[in-house]
Amino acid sequence: QNEALRCIGCGAVIQTETKDTLGYTPEGALKKGLETGEVYCQRCFRLRHYNEIQDVHLTDDDFLRLLNEIGSQDALIVNVIDIFDFNGSLLPGLHRFVGDNPVLLVGNKVDLLPHSLKRGKMTQWLKERAHEEGLRPLDVLLTSAMKPKEMEALLEKIETYRAGKDVYVVGVTNVGKSTLINQIIKNTAGVQDVITTSQFPGTTLDKIEIPLDDGQFLIDTPGIIHRHQMAHYLGDKDLKLIAPKKEIKPMVYQLNEEQTLFFGGVARFDYIKGGRRSFVCYVSNDLKIHRTKLEKADELYAKHVGEMLQPPRQDEVQDFPELVRFEFTIKEKTDIVFAGLGWVTIAEPGAIVAGWAPKGVDVVIRKSLI
Ligand code: GDP
Repeated sequence: QNEALRCIGCGAVIQTETKDTLGYTPEGALKKGLETGEVYCQRCFRLRHYNEIQDVHLTDDDFLRLLNEIGSQDALIVNVIDIFDFNGSLLPGLHRFVGDNPVLLVGNKVDLLPHSLKRGKMTQWLKERAHEEGLRPLDVLLTSAMKPKEMEALLEKIETYRAGKDVYVVGVTNVGKSTLINQIIKNTAGVQDVITTSQFPGTTLDKIEIPLDDGQFLIDTPGIIHRHQMAHYLGDKDLKLIAPKKEIKPMVYQLNEEQTLFFGGVARFDYIKGGRRSFVCYVSNDLKIHRTKLEKADELYAKHVGEMLQPPRQDEVQDFPELVRFEFTIKEKTDIVFAGLGWVTIAEPGAIVAGWAPKGVDVVIRKSLI
């Protein structure tokens, strides 16, 4: 059998099939590479020529190996999460892997939340939720990877907490980790030729090492797909629709008992019992919300999913998972979270509600953020 062809940058086995995974190289580029004798995967190619980090996805097994590797290092761990999708961006079991290493928790995409929300309150909320997950971060920082200015503040924190050690940046996919690292690269002048890639020992995973000024490295690790996110079930176009791009405008609905809200065709909220009251919806401004009677909701969905209730679009309906129902009794000010889509805030206790999401996507309740 022939030896597998490997990227000369990171050592990943070259493949031309799956775009988002390690070693991907477009056919054309592979051909050229073979002619010149220098085959790079697309990720290393972009890094070399455009100074740009690209996302790659990992399998669960590879990811576990990666976490184990990180646990055995003496380093600062920077865990990037998406504050709009906190539940969907947690790294399951991270606290078990970090060992004694300090963790800096970075809540990215803060620009999506209402600007009126106080940062101190959000930071406190993040801290509490992290503790619930067993994670005890040294510090919590809110940021927006799109804004170079905020990256300066992040770099300062990293500099303070790393105390001369390496820095590992970890996160699930889609939290903005690549955007953030690309900003850091831009901020760190003159690294162009010194960015290196190397492998985690005993794995085929590549890591990208950005040299810091004292001989240590900032290391970008591949992300893992969080299966319970809505994003996992939607195509790119739909994803653009449900992933907010700018500050979310909360939508307030006064509902009577036995009324239903549809969020496009991807989620549904039933108000079952508790008298007339208001509900605040935090979802992408581009996602249409339809109100109807609870008793008519099933029929409406069956009839109109794919057209009036979009996404999914018509040609995607067939492959779209059925909506599954989760019922909750509200005991305090609570958010009903549809993983990756947004949430509905219920201010007063006593209501009985149900949240519906595509099979496989989590609907959870949490202490309200806002
Ligand atoms: P990664 O998978 O964690 O590397 O995430 P990416 O860097 O590829 O970003 C995922 C998506 O989130 C992209 O569409 C980015 O444009 C967007 N994004 C990244 N950072 C921010 C941010 O701070 N605010 C907002 N609104 N979007 C962001």
